[in-house]
Amino acid sequence: MVDHSTDATIASWLRQHGTLARFDLELVLCQILDCSRAHILTNPHRSLSQPELDQLERWSDQLYNHVPIAYLCGNQEFWGLRLTVDHRVLVPRPDTETLVEQALECIDTLTRIRSAETTLTLLDLGTGSGAIALALASERPDTQVHACDFSLDSLAVAHENSRLLRLPVTFHHSDWFTDIAQSFDLIVSNPPYIAPDDPHLDLLGAEPAHALIADDNGLADLRRICEQAGALLHSDGWLLLEHGYDQGPAVRSLLAENGFIDVQSRRDLGGNERVTWGQKPSDQALSAHE
Ligand code: GLN
Repeated sequence: MVDHSTDATIASWLRQHGTLARFDLELVLCQILDCSRAHILTNPHRSLSQPELDQLERWSDQLYNHVPIAYLCGNQEFWGLRLTVDHRVLVPRPDTETLVEQALECIDTLTRIRSAETTLTLLDLGTGSGAIALALASERPDTQVHACDFSLDSLAVAHENSRLLRLPVTFHHSDWFTDIAQSFDLIVSNPPYIAPDDPHLDLLGAEPAHALIADDNGLADLRRICEQAGALLHSDGWLLLEHGYDQGPAVRSLLAENGFIDVQSRRDLGGNERVTWGQKPSDQALSAHE
């Protein structure tokens, strides 16, 4: 029998790649050695065979090239849901859970003011992996959740996640609002908002540029959404947007300029303004201004 064992151990392999994120390395070990994280942590002296080392090196090479660990493992946890992800979609970020939290608060307020028999309709604009739409569908199964994306590749991933998680979402192929033919109570979006010359992009090269980069200092898509969302919102409905850590003031202005009221922002876990929202005035308030 061929002896594949080497001098390498779990501990020595982790040491060798000490400049990479420790948690990512542990996940790689779990995948390749097909074991739990507890096993990795409690067996630092387990020796690694040559085939195992070869596979580990292939994966660590990708981490050095800034391929997200979620693409290597093929999934990412978001709002407690295990989402399938690959190079076709942006990896869902924990920061985006702030958007979900605020959306749930707005949904609950609307539920209180709408009549009991009304089913609330929600739209996730530019859904990517489907993360936001699926989180909302999981939390508020009595709402009707819609999601759109202009990328058919993204829609394929989002559709697969909806099927795997058994969470119903109606998908639309649309470039922002161009092919959306109905109105909603709540529109949420995590659009691209990174400026084309932002140095952070160097670390994000494996993810789809169209999901990350926007002209006009990162504000082009946020502006378009603020300009067009009002026409597709029911009165008293909300538009909620994720944005960059320093874009809160700009997004508040965009919402106010486009007639939204009660404009507010919320910080993410890192303490940065991350989500800004506004409400479409009720019909009475609009006519009072005429
Ligand atoms: N929050 C992401 C990041 O900074 C960007 C997401 C986006 O552009 N919508 O990595």
